[in-house]
Amino acid sequence: MNGAPSLHSQLSNWCVHFNCMMHQYCDAGIAYEDVRDPHTTPYSYPCFKDNNCAERCAHAQYPTEQEIIKQEQEIHQKVSTFLSNLACGLCPVCEQPIQYKESIGLSQYAYPCGHRLGTVLKEKE
Ligand SMILES: [Zn+2]
Repeated sequence: MNGAPSLHSQLSNWCVHFNCMMHQYCDAGIAYEDVRDPHTTPYSYPCFKDNNCAERCAHAQYPTEQEIIKQEQEIHQKVSTFLSNLACGLCPVCEQPIQYKESIGLSQYAYPCGHRLGTVLKEKE
């Protein structure tokens, strides 16, 4: 592996209301800016259990072991379905037969539906 934290460890670390910081507010309606710790660089957010600052947000809530296992199973099932559809020549998004694929930049698309299949990694030259 590449040293990245396991899926289980990542899922256990995220507040259940965390919805990615490209949003201004989490799913509990809390502004990320209001709960960050301004004394750390980069800022620490209570959205991540390992920042040890849950007291900065009254809504911080981390998933139970049972919820983590359920999420892991759902993710594994989605990946498995995605890969088996792809192996069978079906678009993993809409399950229509793929007639041809085309790469645009680093993305590969299925046609005729036009759904994005993923990133094409260039061979080392
Ligand atoms: Zn499709």
